Amino acid sequence: METKPSSARASAGEAKKRVGIFSFTCDEGCSILLTEIFNQKLIPWLEKMELVYFLSIKDKVEIKDLDIALVEGVVTSERDKEDIEKIRANTRILIAMGTCAMTALPSGQRNNFNISQLKEIEGHLEKYNFLPKALALKDVVVVDDNISGCPIDEGKFIEVFEKYLA
Ligand code: SF4
Repeated sequence: METKPSSARASAGEAKKRVGIFSFTCDEGCSILLTEIFNQKLIPWLEKMELVYFLSIKDKVEIKDLDIALVEGVVTSERDKEDIEKIRANTRILIAMGTCAMTALPSGQRNNFNISQLKEIEGHLEKYNFLPKALALKDVVVVDDNISGCPIDEGKFIEVFEKYLA
């Protein structure tokens, strides 16, 4: 995994962490809660981080050279799989944000469908290029840390995130 960019910045005295926030299949409840946490914490955190990628509040940019990626949601399609692999290749620390990113539920309920239920959704799976199973992040890439809760627990988020901002 690439660690050079952040260490290079650190040695140059530019220690701000480059942070990206990403959403896969979910109701985006964790990132909504995160914007509430930002209401209180973003200004002090901005002394230590640069918010590079967060489509809820910023335009899309190339995913590149991140120190911390916070990822919510479930990997359900080939496109999701390619995207999370790209994020993994471009971040030093990847954190699964929320229980659905950690467990694939509730989208992963279809993983336990019986044959007749699977037959019913077969057309949708094909039409939208869905994977045969909905996957938790850890089923696809290496995950460095987890923040549980649906939505995330605010105190736990602050504790984990500040550990990597330090
Ligand atoms: S963990 Fe819950 S609140 Fe967070 S994105 Fe998943 S379903 Fe939504």
